Amino acid sequence: MSIVLTGELAAAAYESWRQHLAPHIPAGESLELSGQCRDKNAVEIALAANPPWGELASYPNLRFVQSLWAGVDRLLGDPTLPKNVTVARLVDPAMAQSMVEGAIAATLFVHRQLPAYLRQQHHRTWRQLPQPVASHRNVSILGFGQMGQPVARALAALGFRVRAWGQHPRSDTTIVYSSGEPGLQHALAEAQILINLLPLTPATIGILNAQLFAQLPKGAALINLGRGAHLQDDDLLDALSSERLSHAVLDVFHKEPLPGSHPFWIHPQITVLPHVAATTDPATAAPLAMQNVAAFRAGRPLTGLVSRSLGY
Ligand code: NDP
Repeated sequence: MSIVLTGELAAAAYESWRQHLAPHIPAGESLELSGQCRDKNAVEIALAANPPWGELASYPNLRFVQSLWAGVDRLLGDPTLPKNVTVARLVDPAMAQSMVEGAIAATLFVHRQLPAYLRQQHHRTWRQLPQPVASHRNVSILGFGQMGQPVARALAALGFRVRAWGQHPRSDTTIVYSSGEPGLQHALAEAQILINLLPLTPATIGILNAQLFAQLPKGAALINLGRGAHLQDDDLLDALSSERLSHAVLDVFHKEPLPGSHPFWIHPQITVLPHVAATTDPATAAPLAMQNVAAFRAGRPLTGLVSRSLGY
């Protein structure tokens, strides 16, 4: 049997994945690259980095797809993805650590009012603004999974008043936590900084919209690290111009790269980042992906098993 590496990757990225995966391919098996696969019937495992829709359906004996990305929205959106195939997403502690750094950087950026100071510098203005301390700042995190939990803990350790929101009730955390539709209001009510770390699913698409912004305290800041399609772009522009929101740090966009004509590029209250909050590093991800492949074959529990019905 063989394992296929498939996805929309630049040649250098393909080569890097191939090199880091090769030492973990079981003896007697081969790692095929999707474009060069000689026998599609022999493929039972796919290592997938956002392959084009239809690609996975072309392997008739495919049983398991290990995503090489943490988010599986595009993978699951493929209408031809066979229903009987098991899907796991990448769970990489190195990526979560990177996300912690990215979320802290963005939170401190708005907490310490750097957007305002950058504007002041532009006008050569020397003015000290009132500076609340972290213990007076409410930060809420939408999504309390592999990314949301370490981010919540790190922000709490810095002294921020942290709340988190997820889908299911839980009692295993010291972070103030709420869940489900009623819990959202609780998470939003006092959030001066709102961080989105939800997966993109039919239930969360467009969740960052005018109705949600209206539940935040006036002047709150938004940090979107989830997916671009969580955000209603026009609603954000309206919320910024009406001062409902003060600033947005955006790492993800509907279309990436963000088109040059998009108003976000030149908006003074929007910070644009090129999807860098937590990038996948093949050096750490490849062994983890292959550990999951081995677990699948041995019938052991999988890390990051995706619920096809929940979409994450
Ligand atoms: P997880 O699956 O581990 O966590 C998802 C969290 O979202 C869980 O807490 C889950 O709740 C919650 N959730 C899902 N659906 C809902 C809903 N309808 N209502 C309320 N809560 C919901 O995912 P990760 O933490 O690993 O990743 C989250 C997302 O971060 C990824 O899907 C990806 O889009 C994005 N990401 C962005 C990166 C970047 O560089 N910008 C890098 C990596 C990831 P529960 O726990 O109750 O199930």
